[in-house]
Amino acid sequence: MPDFVDFFSDTKTRPTAAMRAAMANAEVGDERADEDPSVNRLVARCAELLGKPAALFLPSGTMCNEIALAVHCRPGDEVICDRTSHLIGFEGGGPAALAGVMLNPLAGERGRFSVAQLGAVLRPDRLYAPRQRLLEVEQTANLGGGAIWPLAQLTEVAAAAHAHGLVTHMDGARLLNAVVATGIAAAEFARDYDSVWIDFSKGLGAPGGAVLAGSGEFIREATRLKLRWGGAMRQSGIIAAACDYALDHHVTRLADDHANAAALAQGIAQIDGLAIDPSSVETNLVYFDITRADLTAAQLCARLQQQGVRMGEMGPRTVRAVTHLDVDGAAVRKALAALRDLVAG
Ligand SMILES: *Cc1c(COP(=O)(O)O)cnc(C)c1O
Repeated sequence: MPDFVDFFSDTKTRPTAAMRAAMANAEVGDERADEDPSVNRLVARCAELLGKPAALFLPSGTMCNEIALAVHCRPGDEVICDRTSHLIGFEGGGPAALAGVMLNPLAGERGRFSVAQLGAVLRPDRLYAPRQRLLEVEQTANLGGGAIWPLAQLTEVAAAAHAHGLVTHMDGARLLNAVVATGIAAAEFARDYDSVWIDFSKGLGAPGGAVLAGSGEFIREATRLKLRWGGAMRQSGIIAAACDYALDHHVTRLADDHANAAALAQGIAQIDGLAIDPSSVETNLVYFDITRADLTAAQLCARLQQQGVRMGEMGPRTVRAVTHLDVDGAAVRKALAALRDLVAG
């Protein structure tokens, strides 16, 4: 069994030897001057993958979200999103600090809200109210346990938003997990979204990088902010080559992560003192609850760590385990053995 297995996040993946070789051999140039061939190839490939006319390479997914908000909105505008969205909890208050927007959080089901819930907050334009400007969705929904938005629901909420004069944005940090789990193309999921991005530093296993896509005009303005905010890089083809490698080699294998997550969830369901509905695990994120009164998530995570298993505390009694490139079936067995020992034993 491996000594240490890290289920904390799919960002913990390390570039493989083959990915590092692709990086070492990357053709590079000055990205800021559009002269890096590896970056240019990657963004063209991603524009095609996402079904948009243009795309932009950025250091992180957070920057994709924050730039999209700032391009689509003016200060004082309202963004409608799920209450669990990454925008709210994990971006340092960026929507307020950088775009100056108001967030209107909806109480969706596992990160996904219905067209009726959206309809209930859409209102006629009134001069005293914030201008409703943007609808944001997360595919897959991170705090929703990796839940996948069904295509029909994405289409419905986008149509309602557009009919009301809003623009639409998709946080696709794990869009390719949804693609692999459903067989629906990324461009299909993103069809009704004016902007969309994918992350390379999660399950795709690259050391960094994200690509934001949209119309030519949107990407032009997004590029202005990339430069203003210091997101432009130089020979970043080194990173783009890793992302390109990931698109070639690490997409279809996301199915392994989903199978490992399902196996982990099924094992957890058998442990007295833990609770999970394994059918809720659709992709690579596994959230489970501790039902034993004398054990908190913080305690469990600390004890797991001593046994060489890292998981994340997501609430007083909620733990998250994420499967990815660097955890396999043996890692799942090690995690289940440790959980059995610590919780039921
Ligand atoms: C990780 C994540 C982000 C941010 O991406 P970074 O590349 O870590 O900045 C945004 N949204 C969701 C849903 C994420 O999981």
